[in-house]
Order: sequence, then C-alpha cells, then structure tokens
Amino acid sequence: MSKQIELLTRKVNRLNRARLSAEAILEQKSLELWEAKEKLEEKVLLRTHELQAAKERAERAQKAEQLFLANMSHEIRTPLNAIIGMTHLLESTTLDESQSSYLNTLKSSAQLLINLISDILDISKIDSGKVEAIPESANLRTLAGDLLEIFSRPSEEKGINLLLNFDSEIDEKILLDKKLTSQILVNLLSNGIKFTHKGAVTLSIDLIEKTKNSQSVRFTVVDTGIGIPSDKLESIFEDFSQAENNTDRKYGGTGLGLSIARKLALILGSQLIATSELGEGSSFSFTLSVPYDHMQSPTSLSQSASATLDRQLYVLVAEDNEMNQMYIQTLLDKWKVSYDLAVNGSEALSLYQQNKYDLVLMDCQMPVMDGYEATMEIRKTDSDIPIIALTASSMREDREAALRQGFTDFMTKPFTPQKLKELLASY
Ligand code: ADP
Repeated sequence: MSKQIELLTRKVNRLNRARLSAEAILEQKSLELWEAKEKLEEKVLLRTHELQAAKERAERAQKAEQLFLANMSHEIRTPLNAIIGMTHLLESTTLDESQSSYLNTLKSSAQLLINLISDILDISKIDSGKVEAIPESANLRTLAGDLLEIFSRPSEEKGINLLLNFDSEIDEKILLDKKLTSQILVNLLSNGIKFTHKGAVTLSIDLIEKTKNSQSVRFTVVDTGIGIPSDKLESIFEDFSQAENNTDRKYGGTGLGLSIARKLALILGSQLIATSELGEGSSFSFTLSVPYDHMQSPTSLSQSASATLDRQLYVLVAEDNEMNQMYIQTLLDKWKVSYDLAVNGSEALSLYQQNKYDLVLMDCQMPVMDGYEATMEIRKTDSDIPIIALTASSMREDREAALRQGFTDFMTKPFTPQKLKELLASY
C-alpha cells in the first residue's frame, strides 16, 4: 500500500514538475510574444512617423512648386500682357505689309508663351488634385454657339467650314461645369482647325440617353484634317507628346492640350477617346451625364452681354502697370467711355469717394494699397457698385478668393478689346 502511495506521489510530483515546466515555457513564450509585439509596435510607430514625415515633405514640396509656378507665371505674364496689349494697339495703326507680318509673328509668339504658361499651370493644378467639377446653370446650345464663335475667324482665315450639329432631342437647360467642358472643347476645336487644311471641323452634340433627372450627351469634334497614325492614338494624350517629331516646328503647340483635356474629362466623369484615319481626319469624343435644370430663367448671360456700349459709362480704372494703363486708356478713349485712372488702391479709394462711378476695373496687385484691400474698403459703404478684378492669375482659387473679398467679377489678363467691351456692356 505504502509502495502504491509512494508511486502515486512520485507520479503526482512528476506531473507537477511537468506542469510547472509547461507553465514556465508558456510564461517564457508569452514574454517572447509580448516582446515581439512591443518591437513590432515600435517598428510600426517608427514607420508611421517616417511615412508621415515623408508625406509632409512631399506636401511641402508640392506647395513650394505650386507657389513657384504661380509666382513665376505671374512674373512672366505681367510683361507678356503688356506686349500683347501693345500688339492690339499697334494693330489699329497704319502698317505696311512687312510691319504687319512682323506684328503677326510677335502676336502669335506672345500668345504661344501665354498658352504654355497656362497649360503648365493647369497640369500642375490638375495633378495636385486642385481641380474639381462645379456644375452650374448652363444652356447647352448657347454654350456651343459661343464656342464656335471663338473659332469663326481662325476657321474663316483657313478657308474651312466650322459646323455645329445639335441634336434637337436634347434638353438645353442643364447643370454643367461650363469652364471645364469649354476648356476641353476649346482644345479639341483648336486642334481640329490647326490640323485641317481643307474641309470642315464639326462639333456634334448628340443625345445618348434620357432618364428622369438627367440626360447622357456625347460631344464629338470631327475634322477632315491630316489624321493621326494609329500607333500614336494613345500616346498623344501624354504630357508634352506630339504625333510626329516635327509637329512642334510645323504646327507649334506644347503637346499638353490633349493631356489636359483627357484629365479634365476624367474629372467630369468621362473618358476622352480618339479615332482617326491618316490623311482623312480625326474624331475626339466624350460623353457626359448632365442633370436637367428646369429652374433656369429664359435669358442667358451671354445673350445679355451684347457688345455694344449703349450708354455713357463712367469707369474708375485702378492699374499700376504703365503699359496696361495705356492699353485700357486707348480702348476706353476709342469707345468714348469716360474714366479716371488711379495708379494704386489708395488713389482709387480717394477717387471713388469723390465721384459717382458706374463700375470699377481694379488690378489686384498694386503698390501702396492692393486691389483686394481697396475693394474691401469700398465694400464697407457700397455693396452695389460692380468691381471687376483684373488679374494675371487664372487659378480658380484666386478667382474664388477675389469674389470672397468683395469683387463682383473677374477678368484674366491679357484680355482682348472685345472681351473688355463685352464686360462693360454687360454692366
Ligand atoms: P499640341 O497641339 O499643342 O501639340 P495636343 O496635346 O493638343 O498638343 O496634341 C498632341 C498631338 O496630337 C499634336 O501635336 C498632334 O500631333 C496630334 N493631334 C491632336 N489633335 C489632332 C487632330 N485633330 N488632327 C491631327 N493630329 C492631332
């Protein structure tokens, strides 16, 4: 019996020892696991910090790039605007044939530079996610007509037809981001005209589908131009890419237009696609789903902006750049519009206090007091007078900032005489 008890006790002891060692192993493993977990958490934390720092560095670099581009473009645009303004004035003087030809080269080169700056700014804005679709009330037929109007002269000069095919089933009153849609179509139409030597460029707007609240509309720009080799149909949408190596020299351009157009179409929720037959012509199209806007009033803005100045306006012009002053003064004199000129915001403010103006044209960046401050001062006592911001910036956020500061409207320099006239007429 005692032998059995002894055996049992030994067994129990053995089991106890085994349990203790199993517990010790378990404890050891838990400790190791805990240490590994701690190490992993430390690593994750470190990596998160590193990633956060890298993200902040990238964001700072992107901001610096944006700021650099904005400043550079402003610095380049200001003298360029003056050059373009002078070319408009020179155009209305008597010129002999060779002077006219020099002037044309000057004009197109300056315009090319302005386009290049705008394109680079656009790409940088789009790539940094700063461009978003903002739908507004639009009349699709008016929009199409306005777009063709822009190109009526260049197409006439080239002897090609510019046509509009507007599907009569389309509900014209819609909600649409007019700026982005127009920017895509301007790109496509200008390419169509540039690469077509005979025949026509046609803008077709077709109804694809109607639902209760919206319709699907396809925009197509077709030309009978030089066409695009099939192996280049995709690469032409890349930044700085042109179909032929010598295209840039023969046709000019930056190779950015289609890349911008495709990115903008994507922002609008669409895909810009090209088809082409070499030597026959090309077709570019994208489809948008646009909601109806039945709340729209019958008069559209562009109809009200008749280009005739039918009453004597009294305008206050605030502009510090001498060349720009001369440009605006020459135009206002030509149209017999009365005006006073201020060379900075503070002068503008004191002139405003002494006279009763119908409208103010206000440069944004001026010495002593800038246009933003002067506008805010005017707005303290007068919420009605139209104050139009004149600025070299075409950034949407600058436009929004200007409107927030009390400006009524916005005009990007350089502007054509026609644009200024339309603006004055619309007020
Ligand atoms: P850019 O016109 O400034 O060179 P784009 O990005 O608008 O830049 O066009 C890129 C290239 O695609 C053009 O250089 C041209 O080779 C080709 N391309 C674009 N549109 C047309 C067209 N309608 N017909 C023929 N080629 C075109």
